[in-house]
Amino acid sequence: MDYRTVLAEVAEAAGPVASSGKVADYIPALARADPGAFGFALCDITDGGRVEGVGEWQARFSIQSVSKVFTLALVLAADGDALWQRVGKEPSGSPFNSLAQLERDQGVPRNPFVNAGALVVTDRLQTLTGDASGTLRDFLRAETGDHTIDFDRHVAASERRHGHRNAALAHLLADHGRLVNPVRTVLHHYTRQCSLTMTCQTLALAAAFLARHGLRADTTRLLTRSEAKRINAVMLVGGTYDSAGEFAHRVGLPAKSGVGGGIIAVIPGRCSLCTWGPALDGHGNSVAGTAALDAFTTLTGWSVF
Ligand code: GLN
Repeated sequence: MDYRTVLAEVAEAAGPVASSGKVADYIPALARADPGAFGFALCDITDGGRVEGVGEWQARFSIQSVSKVFTLALVLAADGDALWQRVGKEPSGSPFNSLAQLERDQGVPRNPFVNAGALVVTDRLQTLTGDASGTLRDFLRAETGDHTIDFDRHVAASERRHGHRNAALAHLLADHGRLVNPVRTVLHHYTRQCSLTMTCQTLALAAAFLARHGLRADTTRLLTRSEAKRINAVMLVGGTYDSAGEFAHRVGLPAKSGVGGGIIAVIPGRCSLCTWGPALDGHGNSVAGTAALDAFTTLTGWSVF
């Protein structure tokens, strides 16, 4: 397929909408991002993993909660179904950092993509590896071939200084007996994983194992077909938080967003996508990125439905 025309139209659809969003500033180091920046990349697994892009698809940004997909995959790869005893798979219908919901649910997070759920996943990855964030970084380097992928110390330190809500979530989890490692250790690795800096190009490559039904870039198996399918299912119901319904309605793909403005999305058996635009809607999802994915699925007719 010649993607050039489609990608040009996708960029055109995304351009005008960014001004209706707002760059995240609750982590002060993220506030410096250009609200008008935009990138989009597609990794076509039916064509040897060829990556095509438009706009600033090779610019680096903070991956933030997009990291939660990869830590989940690494834990499922090691543990199989055992994780689902500790974390749910239901839509949250609440903001990604809700304390009230976690308390109501006796410390069992609704899904692995709200912050509480991701803290539990990171806790497990830490137990399994002794270095959760380092293991994640090495996985992302291996999948993309980009050995410059690294943490942004400034972003991680900024989140640690201002992340009172995540600290509260971690303490609440610990109070319910849901963490194995010390709160400090879990928060350290969580903020580091969120601070990883990547591009649309490398995130599309890194997410391709979900389009390949669990196969890594080197063709070894990371996940069973059924585990990969389940990650996609949880992305559909929880990857864009309390607007997952609206997102499924508009875009119709499993996706995971981050407050750095990135969104990855998957069309199983066909391609993985990544888009970036730092201006966010009220739920923490990129405004331009959502419009771009909406345009992409409309133009191509590709959907999981
Ligand atoms: N590091 C961010 C936080 O925990 C990630 C949130 C997000 O991207 N939705 O608040």
